[in-house]
Amino acid sequence: MHVPLLLTDFLDRAVRIYGHETAIIDGDVTLTYNDVFDRVQQLSHGLHDLGIQKGDRTAYLAPNSHEMFEGFYGVFQTGSVMTPLNTRLTPEDYIFILNHSESKVLFVDHTLYDTVKSIRSELETVHTVIVHGSAHPEDGDLAYEQWLNTYPSEPFERAELEESDTASLLYTSGTTGNPKGVMLSHRSNYLHALTTMHHLRVTDKDTLLHVLPMFHVNGWGSPFYYTANGACQVMQRKIDADSILDNIQQHQVTVCHMAPTVLNMLIEAYTERRGSYSNQQNVRVVIAGSAPPPAFVTRVEEDLKWEFIQVYGMTEIAPLVTTSQPLRYQQQHKPEQLHRMKAKQGVPLIGSDVRVVSEDGEEVPRDGKIVGEIVVRSNNVMEGYWQNPQATADTIRDGFLHTGDMANVDEEGFIEIVDRKKDVIISGGENISSIEVEGCLYDHPDVLEAAVISVPHEKWGEVPHAVVVLREGASADEETLIAFSREKLAHFKAPKGITFTHALPKTASGKIQKVQIRKPFWEGKD
Ligand code: ATP
Ligand code: MG
Repeated sequence: MHVPLLLTDFLDRAVRIYGHETAIIDGDVTLTYNDVFDRVQQLSHGLHDLGIQKGDRTAYLAPNSHEMFEGFYGVFQTGSVMTPLNTRLTPEDYIFILNHSESKVLFVDHTLYDTVKSIRSELETVHTVIVHGSAHPEDGDLAYEQWLNTYPSEPFERAELEESDTASLLYTSGTTGNPKGVMLSHRSNYLHALTTMHHLRVTDKDTLLHVLPMFHVNGWGSPFYYTANGACQVMQRKIDADSILDNIQQHQVTVCHMAPTVLNMLIEAYTERRGSYSNQQNVRVVIAGSAPPPAFVTRVEEDLKWEFIQVYGMTEIAPLVTTSQPLRYQQQHKPEQLHRMKAKQGVPLIGSDVRVVSEDGEEVPRDGKIVGEIVVRSNNVMEGYWQNPQATADTIRDGFLHTGDMANVDEEGFIEIVDRKKDVIISGGENISSIEVEGCLYDHPDVLEAAVISVPHEKWGEVPHAVVVLREGASADEETLIAFSREKLAHFKAPKGITFTHALPKTASGKIQKVQIRKPFWEGKD
């Protein structure tokens, strides 16, 4: 008998086994899995009443919160497609995504309600706005708690779904251009959850702090695999180092997923508090993507004493396909070697065929040197980009998804990303990895953050240039950092110039937006 793989299974399992256990902690709100299930039924009845049907898009504009979490399962039960929006976009972006996705209902956190009101007249398909939290909505809009409580918690009769039906429409980070809508099926999300929960060793003893935003694909998957295992999930509404450390301590958090930029903030805050804090935490592991430099892995493992696992993926693959968590290495290697290994993206997860190929499609040799593009064939791969068949055809070719990420593979099969195709600096015919140059700058004690970009150059075409944020009180100047890089790197790779700044532009998931940084250097030249 064929049983479709549907995401609602995960909540069903949690309720059956862990119904009375704490599911969600969100500030003053604590909910058991039974409570969540009841509220999810109310939500589905409400959506049904608003005319939401299988295949319709339902949008969310909210930080991590119990309301957003309820949305996942409440929306899936109706067969609707969850379409989360990044809370850091501009009003113009919201207009674009809401109209592009043809969303019908929009849930919005009260902190973002003013933004929604300001674009209301330009939304072509949204017919209902429902506000989370304490706002008093305008006439015609609904207050979430009040609205929810008009519906019964009796089990909702779920829409009939196939596992190939689309569950989510997630927009990419927009690191390299405009965000693209990625369609992921129930099956893709489901199989991704199974493999990830295995690799991260998730159990019912875990307490997860949701630091990565759930509206972004990195945070998006965790409400599935932590729920299926009955873990406790704490909502981090605001990305602020002190409040993250408080939550870790107060709720005895065991696992966090976060962007390296947030981890970086945390190490700083932690170092300040060390005396009062060090022995009172249970964190077993922290999981991060987005190319953390090796120096950084060492700080996490040695200063914070947390195990570090790197993962690699992208929205188009639900998202994860590799991990640097090969247990056998932990026994064999010295810490320094181990940290270097963990700064690589690692080996494929179960169910993903991940290859690094040259332009003619041949796999590169395992020599840790020759670079090719990462291509992926996996059960997690997207159905395609929403309403963009051309971009889909450009990305999925010959059965493989082409990631646009350039990498080498070492003797042990570890994949190491060298750069994004679009970020490689081509200087006098040489390819320079911006990630390698950044890794060198991060070794300097004065450097808090660094982004290396290409800038135009008359003789070499392009040369590397670094934009740097210094640690508080640090005083390194341009000359010092260039000399430091020239000592460690081939001279042509060292930045030719340094610009100092107070903050780097980032996406909502904490990624440094090099497109923005590059812009002023290329104006009128591209
Ligand atoms: P857009 O596609 O809109 O330009 P984006 O690619 O940043 O944005 P995401 O899908 O959020 O959108 O990010 C996926 C990308 O993030 C990958 O293609 C890769 O370049 C980068 N990435 C993810 N994990 C890692 C990692 N562990 N190490 C290095 N880079 C990573
Ligand atoms: Mg991308």
